[in-house]
Amino acid sequence: MSSSVALRLPSIDGLLRHPACVPLAERYGRESLLASLRQLLDELRSSVLNGQLSAVEISPDVLAGRVGERLAQQQRSNVRRVFNLTGTVLHTNLGRALLPDEAIDAVQMAARYPLNLEFDLATGKRGDRDDLIEGLIRELTGAEAVTVVNNNAAAVLLTLNSLGARKEGIISRGELIEIGGAFRIPDIMARAGVRLHEVGTTNRTHARDYEAAISPRSGLIMRVHASNYSIEGFTARVPTAELAELAHRHGLPLLEDLGSGSLLDLTRWGLPAEPTVRQALLDGADIVTFSGDKLLGGPQAGLIVGRKELIAKIKKNPLKRALRVDKLTLAALEAVLGLYRDPDRLAERLPSLRLLTRPQADILAQASRLQPAMAEVLGEPWQVSAVQALGMIGSGSQPVARLPSAALCLRPQVSKRLRGRCLLNLEAALRNLPIPVLGRIDDDALWLDLRQLDDEPAWLAQLPQLQVES
Ligand SMILES: *Cc1c(COP(=O)(O)O)cnc(C)c1O
Repeated sequence: MSSSVALRLPSIDGLLRHPACVPLAERYGRESLLASLRQLLDELRSSVLNGQLSAVEISPDVLAGRVGERLAQQQRSNVRRVFNLTGTVLHTNLGRALLPDEAIDAVQMAARYPLNLEFDLATGKRGDRDDLIEGLIRELTGAEAVTVVNNNAAAVLLTLNSLGARKEGIISRGELIEIGGAFRIPDIMARAGVRLHEVGTTNRTHARDYEAAISPRSGLIMRVHASNYSIEGFTARVPTAELAELAHRHGLPLLEDLGSGSLLDLTRWGLPAEPTVRQALLDGADIVTFSGDKLLGGPQAGLIVGRKELIAKIKKNPLKRALRVDKLTLAALEAVLGLYRDPDRLAERLPSLRLLTRPQADILAQASRLQPAMAEVLGEPWQVSAVQALGMIGSGSQPVARLPSAALCLRPQVSKRLRGRCLLNLEAALRNLPIPVLGRIDDDALWLDLRQLDDEPAWLAQLPQLQVES
């Protein structure tokens, strides 16, 4: 007891002048250093008084080290790069599409310099930000006009509100979907001020069902691409062309929410067929909405394309101002759309398409190449194998289709009782790496799907830091 009474924490002033603290002040600023030192000393005071700490533990060098760690931790950005080895390529929680270099350059330019966001350089008059991409969209989709908002949820909300407020929106019961993040068609309709008029049944809806629902109260017919589930078996759905004909016969617009909405036929790259925006318009949809960061492979955005007079009406809605996109998004979007002009090179240049079309044999070879390093780091209790695996596109595109891929399969060689805990510990350790590695647990193993492992050197370099709690 007597020795602990003699211990005293160093003074703040002394610490600030200590050689180990001087560089911290330079790096993080005196204010931050002071605040961190005060906080640390406050936390330690009672332990020191109770004799729970040794002289070494409160030496200036040790305290400076601890404060340095805290400051580094505080300075670390909350926005962190991760390795997405989940097997889901367009992962909503991990930021969906990765931008091509062309878009990154465009974003940099737009961030750094003033630009003609709403300024017509030809006339010197005020311009419209949608004009920056209208030409490209018309060329790529055949649409007459376009307007862009913050995401596709906003696109649907704005379109419904602009064209159907205080009227009825007719939609099949099989298309009243919920998408992740509390986006439910009936709720969005209600918020848009459109009265939902559902027709047909969950599995079968016929033209006569729509026809019977049409009345003077009708404002529009809506069709929603069932992006995250599939109905199979005894089903019926009215083709868009037939539905458009029916809508137009009654003077109603047909909206089609495509969700992912591809600009090109993906089957040319061996991917599952997704409806294209051009086809939906050709079939007669008056307005088509789709996301910028799903299959399109661009920034988060919602594109509303279609008939000129309807787009004009949508743009006049005051909500448009609240939902509009910023200059960085438009810069990235224009650059990504530009790549679509050369479909032959698209799969090389657009990261999402390049990743989606990576051949399974490539990925499997990569898994075999990385297997020894992983096995060595994990050691005895783990069986590490390079195996075929099935991934998915994600973001509601082709929910049932699986992408043939390959993975490192990490299987704990312990009793069944301990397996769950073991896997969670490994998962946590991988998340704890400087660039967190995210896989998926399935069938008593942790799977690292390598389809998206582009930066192999960075992944390998941090592997020795993996520390799994046993
Ligand atoms: C993804 C999706 C949305 C929402 O799009 P966000 O860009 O995520 O806002 C809306 N409708 C459908 C059919 C979708 O698949």
